Amino acid sequence: PATADVEALQHADVAELLPRPAAESDKYRRGVVGVVAGSARYPGAAVLAVAGALRGGAGAVRYVGPAADAVLARFPETLVHAGPPDKAGRVQSWVIGPGIGDESGALEEVLAADVPVLVDADGLRFLSADQVRRRTAGTLLTPHAGEAAALLGRARAEVEAARLATVRELAARYGATVLLKGSTTLVADPDVSVPVRVNPTGTGWLATAGSGDVLSGVTGSLLAAGLVPRDAGAVGAYLHGLAARRAAGPEGAPIVASEVAGQLAAAWGSVVG
Ligand code: AMP
Ligand code: MG
Repeated sequence: PATADVEALQHADVAELLPRPAAESDKYRRGVVGVVAGSARYPGAAVLAVAGALRGGAGAVRYVGPAADAVLARFPETLVHAGPPDKAGRVQSWVIGPGIGDESGALEEVLAADVPVLVDADGLRFLSADQVRRRTAGTLLTPHAGEAAALLGRARAEVEAARLATVRELAARYGATVLLKGSTTLVADPDVSVPVRVNPTGTGWLATAGSGDVLSGVTGSLLAAGLVPRDAGAVGAYLHGLAARRAAGPEGAPIVASEVAGQLAAAWGSVVG
């Protein structure tokens, strides 16, 4: 291709993209993000995705799923809904997948909504390319290498050996924006003339259980706040990496996913400050 195929995300780009409330904003105008995550087996995934979503710039987070008690115990500001997503009330973006296990009933409904959708983790296991291609609003898929390999029916090692080609191939196949997680997180747009973005803020300390769930939440929240999928993905990964570095400290130390979520506001402040 004639244009640069890859670009590193710059601090100034992120500062410009971060949503800011207008003087006349209310919570609905700032965006409501719906989160379908967690299960009886993995309630923590719901808590972590909501934790990320609460810090991603949306004005409210709506949780739909079986882990509402766990979510509310930790975050009383969450709006919860026990029925299907289409009865949940106003939502400007959906996040679906972290920890849902086989409980994928909501996926079809969420994909039919005319708002941006982020699909992660278990949600990716039940996704068909046709279903995504038929969508009327943006879609962002956020696989790690193992999930990307499963989507393509390939070995994980093949994905790791060809990350750039893989993220491009997935974006083309699904007609969606794809964020491939890992040591270097890449964001590819289905439009091949748009360079793949590389996130510079990652740290190996993020390789810890639940950190991807936090990323889903924060990125989905940025979608609700109005960022297009490739910006939401890039900015989400950037903030998530900065938050992890802050949590790990200057020398580096083991961190857990809830601490990453806990540093998102400070990471945000360090970008705009
Ligand atoms: P998940 O596998 O879904 O829990 O997501 C893991 C999160 O940690 C993603 O945001 C990855 O990009 C990040 N991550 C995992 N391993 C590394 C690594 N070695 N270096 C930087 N980031 C990583
Ligand atoms: Mg994950």
